[in-house]
Amino acid sequence: MFLTGTQLMEVFHKAKKNRFGIIASNVVFDTQIRAIIQGYNSAGSDGLMQMSSGAVKFAAGESKDMQVGARLISTMIKTFAAQFPKSGIGLHIDHATPNYFDFIVFCLENNLVTSVMIDASAEELAENIRVTKEVVAVAHKYGILVEGEIGHIKGTEDEIVSETELYTRPQEALEFVKKTNVDLFAASVGTNHGVSKGENIVLRLDLIKEIDELLIKNNVERGLVLHGASGLTDEQLRKSIKNGVVKINKDTHYQMDMAEEIQAYWEKEKYAIVCPPEMDHKDYIPNKSKFDPRKWLIKGEKRMQKAVEEFCLVSGSAKNSILL
Ligand SMILES: [Zn+2]
Repeated sequence: MFLTGTQLMEVFHKAKKNRFGIIASNVVFDTQIRAIIQGYNSAGSDGLMQMSSGAVKFAAGESKDMQVGARLISTMIKTFAAQFPKSGIGLHIDHATPNYFDFIVFCLENNLVTSVMIDASAEELAENIRVTKEVVAVAHKYGILVEGEIGHIKGTEDEIVSETELYTRPQEALEFVKKTNVDLFAASVGTNHGVSKGENIVLRLDLIKEIDELLIKNNVERGLVLHGASGLTDEQLRKSIKNGVVKINKDTHYQMDMAEEIQAYWEKEKYAIVCPPEMDHKDYIPNKSKFDPRKWLIKGEKRMQKAVEEFCLVSGSAKNSILL
């Protein structure tokens, strides 16, 4: 079922207390939404879906109208999630930069989301704090959670490009959390957005622990968020959760899975739409039973669902839904 912001807070409290992680999966269209909600449900897990500004524009078609795109994605998720009373589903706005302030307010006013990330990490700390505080003030009026970030995460994610890699400084994290009152804090600890291999990352898992302990010591304990987690090994992921991470963002992994599965299908079924070289074009009849989009999209859907179930096992959220 679709959660309220208050229920989502309960999900993160449980995760932090018992040290397991909630998977946050980026989505754009219905095949992904089905795969991921079904995956969370069969794992007995709660989970987040997230939509980036780019995803919302894509969902709206040629108009790129973000309000239309957000309504579509939110309605699909709410309607589909209603079938599963034992798995709590949230919808999060991923990486909304300050220029999308009005869009955030639109989503809050229309009850489309359970949480939102304001990403003013490109600004100086004082300005980041000012903007984030403003979003927190509006969101909390609606009982909606806010995620904030300082420092940059290396790589490209949708419209966000960061060439430099800056690790979060624990003292700045403390100041940021205290002054903004964000519910979730995204720490920059060396993960990469996009494709990366776990081995090559200078991952500072110790930094997660340092930030977590500092926040706890100052009575402002928060759930920490790990971005760009697709390239991490299971071991790295488990350790980051043990150190205080409660929200793990996944996007690239699903994209790879889906592309791989559908590519394999078309390699096998190529001649369902392409005339074999030895055949005369006049004699060729394409095979509708193979090129019907349902036949190949379901391959991607099943593969993604399996990936989600595995993520929930690794992160420990499986069989830990607050609704069970
Ligand atoms: Zn991110």
